[in-house]
Amino acid sequence: MTDYAKPLPKVTDESAPFWEGCRAQELRIQRCDSCARFRFPPQKMCRHCNSVEFTWAPVSGKGTVYSFTVPTNTSPGELPARGFDYPYAVALVELEGTDGVRIASNIVDCPVDEIAIDMPVEVTFDQVTDEITLPKFRRV
Ligand SMILES: [Zn+2]
Repeated sequence: MTDYAKPLPKVTDESAPFWEGCRAQELRIQRCDSCARFRFPPQKMCRHCNSVEFTWAPVSGKGTVYSFTVPTNTSPGELPARGFDYPYAVALVELEGTDGVRIASNIVDCPVDEIAIDMPVEVTFDQVTDEITLPKFRRV
């Protein structure tokens, strides 16, 4: 795992509990203690009620594809971007039970031409380094 060459997320004080959850194979999303709304990415303050009190709440990891794209390199002479294995899909997954929280990730274990809007997915965890386990999503 130490030779992982793809881009890695930068862990901040705010996002560290999210990454700790991923290492524990659990998707944890901030939930406002005042208005009970979920939010992602991690933020210090609720944008709905301005409360700074929140809880890291485990969610089911189930969701649906809200939107997605399959990056391609079709320009003549252009090389594929380093660190990416084509073809791959980048998706916005709307998480079940979170009132519309969406997380950007990859859809894996599914041919890219079979990915569709509203396709049901579930989280799967990909440990890429000792510190980073990436949440990705697969078709259910
Ligand atoms: Zn709130």
